[in-house]
Amino acid sequence: MVKKNLFVLLILFMVGLTFGCSEKEGDGAASENGIEAYLIRVDGKEIGYISGKEEIEAFKELIKSEKIKEYGNQNSEIIKVTINSEIEVDKAICDPESLMSTEDMIKYYEENGDSISFSITVSEKDKVYISFETVYKNSSAYYEGTKVVSVKGEKGEKDITYHVTYVDGVESGKVVFEENVTKDAVNEVILVGTKKSTASTGSYAWPLNSVYITSSYGGRTLNGYYDFHLGVDLRASSGTWVYASDGGEVVFAGYNGSYGYLIKIKHDNGDYTYYAHLSKIAVSSGTRVYKGQYIALSGATGNVTGAHLHFEIRKNGSTVNPVSYLPSLKGVVIMSSEYLESCLVGTEAYQSHYALPVSFYSRKEQEECCLARHR
Ligand SMILES: [Zn+2]
Repeated sequence: MVKKNLFVLLILFMVGLTFGCSEKEGDGAASENGIEAYLIRVDGKEIGYISGKEEIEAFKELIKSEKIKEYGNQNSEIIKVTINSEIEVDKAICDPESLMSTEDMIKYYEENGDSISFSITVSEKDKVYISFETVYKNSSAYYEGTKVVSVKGEKGEKDITYHVTYVDGVESGKVVFEENVTKDAVNEVILVGTKKSTASTGSYAWPLNSVYITSSYGGRTLNGYYDFHLGVDLRASSGTWVYASDGGEVVFAGYNGSYGYLIKIKHDNGDYTYYAHLSKIAVSSGTRVYKGQYIALSGATGNVTGAHLHFEIRKNGSTVNPVSYLPSLKGVVIMSSEYLESCLVGTEAYQSHYALPVSFYSRKEQEECCLARHR
């Protein structure tokens, strides 16, 4: 059936082109043999004869509507169709029966639609996720090293409308036409614990920022008599900050004979640390402290010849040499405030680099100056 129709159509075309019509030169009245018509060409190829200019427009509209049928679907909307092929017309004289009918045009399109160049712009919708950010917030409600998700992050969603242009079926351009957020993303909030744990770590830290041992642990001669020193004496002018050597419970904070003002901390493994000759106590008995927490100011209370910090570690009821349980001082530049001062004032390095009182400079600057002196 289709073949037969095509055959008939072909015959009609041939008849039209060879016998029914002829191209007309210039403007003139229709002859007795035919009426005024137009020869239509697509990219130079003769297609057939049509009766008037409105038929040309109808032919173009037909091509466009067929392209729209091909590209249109539920998710896309046709924005624009442009025919790129050159469609030309020439005036002619035709036998009315030789003119292309609408059916002929459809047949022509079905047979040759692929060879007609066109551009089509369609609107395409797409749903995309919006990623969320992770925000970290410090929280004193949780211990250090703890991270707690307080707000679960949720992806957002948005509808994006693109305008996509196809040239002869091949995508040639894509632009975002519209964005519509349908659901906002929720940022994830993670609380980072800042609370210091008062649990013992099992390792000890020096109780002062700068360490200089003035008297070691063990047997010594004091005022001509043998004496067993129960801890180490650390150089510290009165009012130097003293820190807990490890986390634990303050089991004594008060005055105790030759120790003067004394703090005893019991650690979770049963060890005790002692901080003696203090000028001020900043914690009370029965409370817990974290490693490195400021607990007191050093001083010269009790049986002393001058201000310093006496520090002890006791294991199983007996004192031990604290140095054996503390970070090595070897290779570490540890300078007491007094040392820094004595090092700096009057030295060439100090004179050449520093013009203001020692206290004006940061600890780091002071240490650097001292190091410079020793190089
Ligand atoms: Zn001592």
